[in-house]
Amino acid sequence: MTQTPLNVIMLGPPGAGKGTQSGRLAKNYTVPKISTGDSLREEVTRSSPLGILAKATMDAGHLVSDDVMVALVKERLSRPDTDRGFVLDGFPRTVPQAKALDALMAERNRGGLIALQIIVPLEELFRRLYIRRICAACGTDAAPGTPEDAVCAKCGGELIHRTDDSEDVVRERLRVFEAQTEPLVAYYQSGSAASVFFKIDGNQPLDAVTGQIREAVERAAVKTKVTL
Ligand code: AMP
Repeated sequence: MTQTPLNVIMLGPPGAGKGTQSGRLAKNYTVPKISTGDSLREEVTRSSPLGILAKATMDAGHLVSDDVMVALVKERLSRPDTDRGFVLDGFPRTVPQAKALDALMAERNRGGLIALQIIVPLEELFRRLYIRRICAACGTDAAPGTPEDAVCAKCGGELIHRTDDSEDVVRERLRVFEAQTEPLVAYYQSGSAASVFFKIDGNQPLDAVTGQIREAVERAAVKTKVTL
């Protein structure tokens, strides 16, 4: 029997918890988590041509061009570990990216998308972004509430603030989100794409958000005949 893969995308502003929740969801259903932000940060760390190109854009809180991002995701989704599905974190972020992903999904012809929108009030986003830290060595997000003097739970590396989590850049990223990413909600909600759409209350304790996401995915899986 051919299995229908679990293809999930996470929509939500910076600080909504997309990274953490994508990681948990991907682990739970043994599919890869694909974070375009993490991929770009790795390129920056390696000082690759893409990393050098993307760094200034990321540091300013702006979006890397659609062409570059679509090519990156296209390559990643061509790898065999995505056969059973994927959780995309941070892509798509613009309507052209969403349209390119639709085209890619049609080409794959292996099930549609489950779109999850994580909703968190603005003041809570600011609070989270100012305290958020990631590992300088492996890029893993420190769990919310990690003590100041802790090291990375995964590799023991030093925990640092992201360069784009400073006050000015956070404001710019939220402005960019509103202008370019928020319209995706209407795009997916309208049902124009081959997708199902769920809203998630991201302003709850971590495990409650995870539970709500799992419930939504299970309902979506029944609706779209995904094999979990
Ligand atoms: P994130 O870790 O998802 O907050 O992404 C960090 C930064 O990487 C963003 O502020 C953008 O500069 C860039 N980035 C990540 N994903 C995308 C995307 N899909 N389109 C454009 N830029 C992106």
